[in-house]
Amino acid sequence: MHYVPRILVTGGAGFIGSFLCERLLDTGAEVLCVDNFFTGRRSNVAHLLENPRFEIMRHDITFPLFVEVDQIYNLACPASPIHYQHDPVQTTKTSVHGAINMLGLAKRVKARILQASTSEVYGDPDVHPQREDYWGNVNPIGIRSCYDEGKRCAETLFFDYYRQHKVQIKVARIFNTYGPRMHPNDGRVVSNFIVQALQGRDITIYGDGRQTRSFCFVSDLVDGLMRLMNSDDAITGPINLGNPGEFTMLELAEKVIELTGSTSKITHKPLPQDDPRKRRPDITRANEQLQWRPKVTLEDGLRPTIEYFREEIRNLV
Ligand code: NAD
Ligand code: UDP
Repeated sequence: MHYVPRILVTGGAGFIGSFLCERLLDTGAEVLCVDNFFTGRRSNVAHLLENPRFEIMRHDITFPLFVEVDQIYNLACPASPIHYQHDPVQTTKTSVHGAINMLGLAKRVKARILQASTSEVYGDPDVHPQREDYWGNVNPIGIRSCYDEGKRCAETLFFDYYRQHKVQIKVARIFNTYGPRMHPNDGRVVSNFIVQALQGRDITIYGDGRQTRSFCFVSDLVDGLMRLMNSDDAITGPINLGNPGEFTMLELAEKVIELTGSTSKITHKPLPQDDPRKRRPDITRANEQLQWRPKVTLEDGLRPTIEYFREEIRNLV
């Protein structure tokens, strides 16, 4: 009989997780989505519930989990600064206790495990673009630290489980990712600008708007995560996954205004503490080891994202 792999996705009801669950089901796998619905939504995976190979479980990964699976994608963790700063102690617990629990599970059932790490491990970088061998410039006691240091500690745990217990690990450092199913009140820049533009409200640029980010469309990112999970045993990462196209927040605002045809004006608000000045991935490693590079340009990714938010806003009224 054909063997059907069983795959656990923690944070599977979130923005990236829901697309990942969808793509994994397309491969014929059984998918167990585990989520505590802190930032995730049932509606993100509602269309998958009819699939007999899909299962959803409400569970907080800061508590142990006993299931039998072949692969684990560990995505559970709020990703937006507003959400991860709402309960910073829980954010660290999710990253650290969550990693310990999921690594313990991987060790017991001999599963492969992939960690959704982040470009935030580079902090406010002195090296540009960021390569995986750069150790970062992170404030350990600031308002972003619960997330940045939580994710850094999770990486440490992954590599210690690899060295000490021979767990098969894969660590992806994800750069800013956007697309449909982002929460309209998520607070991240792409969702904020689009919702503001569609509602004709002022577009809020924090600081002078000359800080840069690199934006990856969600389908490209999910493709990279799956390639990494299914890569050769010797490939552990860390491996950057992101789109090297780099834009200032001013450029992003102008692009969103243009694509939405909005009359919104730009307004400036104070720059949040420890906001990184620039961010852009060096994806040489992903290219060489996974033959991965993103395909979707910012404009091509913004269009369906704008259509999604248009629909969300229509449903609100
Ligand atoms: P998201 O907030 O939409 O998804 C996170 C999911 O995790 C949500 O469904 C949430 O309810 C769930 N969750 C949070 N704490 C949990 C807990 N303790 N137990 C169980 N579930 C929990 O965010 P996203 O953008 O989809 O991000 C997914 C992952 O990718 C996160 O780990 C994030 O740190 C990482 N990441 C995302 C980006 C990005 O730009 N989107 C960038 C770098 C890293
Ligand atoms: N930002 C902004 N206006 C907003 C939201 C965010 O100018 O309404 C800026 C923010 O200060 C940062 C960048 O956009 O410089 C990206 O912010 P986001 O919260 O999306 O992610 P980050 O990369 O900072 O984690």
